[in-house]
Amino acid sequence: MTSYYSTNRRVPEVDLANALLQGQAGDRGLFMPRPIPTMERELMRRAREMPYPELAAAVLEPYATGTFTRDVLLEICRDAYDFDIPLEQVDGPRHVMRLDQGPTASFKDFAARFMGRALGRLVRERGRELLILTATSGDTGSAIAHAFLGVPGIRAVVLFPIHEVSERQRRQMTTLGDNVTTLALESKFDDCQALVKQAFSDPDLADLNLTSANSINIGRLLPQSVYYIYAAARLADIGGGERVVFSVPSGNFGDLMGGLLAFRSGLPVARFVVATNANDEVPRFLETGRYERIVPSRRCISNAMNVGHPSNLARVVDLYGGQMDEQGVLHEPPQLERMQDDLYGVSIDDDRTRATIIEAYRRHGIVLEPHGAVGWAGLEHFLNRHPELRNAPTVSLETAHPAKFPEEIRALIDLDPPLPPSLQGLDGRREHYEELETDYRAFKDYLIRTYR
Ligand SMILES: *Cc1c(COP(=O)(O)O)cnc(C)c1O
Repeated sequence: MTSYYSTNRRVPEVDLANALLQGQAGDRGLFMPRPIPTMERELMRRAREMPYPELAAAVLEPYATGTFTRDVLLEICRDAYDFDIPLEQVDGPRHVMRLDQGPTASFKDFAARFMGRALGRLVRERGRELLILTATSGDTGSAIAHAFLGVPGIRAVVLFPIHEVSERQRRQMTTLGDNVTTLALESKFDDCQALVKQAFSDPDLADLNLTSANSINIGRLLPQSVYYIYAAARLADIGGGERVVFSVPSGNFGDLMGGLLAFRSGLPVARFVVATNANDEVPRFLETGRYERIVPSRRCISNAMNVGHPSNLARVVDLYGGQMDEQGVLHEPPQLERMQDDLYGVSIDDDRTRATIIEAYRRHGIVLEPHGAVGWAGLEHFLNRHPELRNAPTVSLETAHPAKFPEEIRALIDLDPPLPPSLQGLDGRREHYEELETDYRAFKDYLIRTYR
């Protein structure tokens, strides 16, 4: 049965329920599943025909032994995944998977909606209230806020960098109210994330039952492995071992970790293209084995990926036999060559991102937004270097809806992306948020004052 150990290896293993409830491990490490379950051949053969919620329940079942039964998972997934997942053919074997059809129009809905329902259920069963803390670089906050809105027994606090989120992104989280509080900081995402992480390991706050809804929570990663399997099964004979190339626009590396879990559980993947914006600390690391975080992170138009020190890197390193602590210090190097065999890092700057949005529209008639354009540009770059894979089935992830970035899209291709229903009516609603200093003491006082 799968249990969850900490990447810092200083606390005992726990089951899925406790990993979800704790978020971050007590030694500040990140929970990782052991063993990673092997997907049965039979499931790989049937995956192509399975509706998404059924596939999700089947994939997640072995990760959840002792916490959720298959039936409970199916109920959660049917409720969570009630939207489309278009796989758009762009050019021969090349596809874009649109993960932007959920209620907040970013791929983060996949994880947030699962977590909201899973945690809501655990809180109900155990009669213990939870306070969720989340730092957002743009899209996590709204996905989490929507997923936890009105869930009894759970309150959510979202910290965001006021100057780095778009107006629509901000409105999506500040117009909800109820059990969701938003705090605006005059700083960077990395600073917000650091405050949240410090609160988790602060013994003075233990009585608040804090947990994380950031991708440091394993509950974010597990559901993100499902769409890789879903896409691959629809484009390739995965039961027969046919391999797919994925391009993943990455910031905190939670999305990629989902893919890597699917890969380790047996999904045939030729390569993951790891596409970042100008925050290129991970592509450099993949090339040289040396890791240097970027402080402060660079501000790019793909704002949800402006991360100078991704928290999930510790998990990627762990998966390849190394150990990295929460500060980014490598205590044991990972197997670099193996990592390079599986992952191809590439950094795409804003000029290239904009040019890609224009080219993809002119050449292929597809509308990409900045994050998806980083993925697509990364894929093109990779295929130019690896002509032997030009005919392999290929999926580039589109992680947000173009209508979240209307100014940019309009300026580049003179088109107003139609608003999905989830983004309509935001402009007229009242916003509620408080401003907070970027200071741990101030944050801690706020939490104690408000929630104790
Ligand atoms: C969060 C986000 C990303 C980056 O995902 P990670 O899991 O942090 O690597 C990419 N695109 C969009 C639109 C996002 O919201």
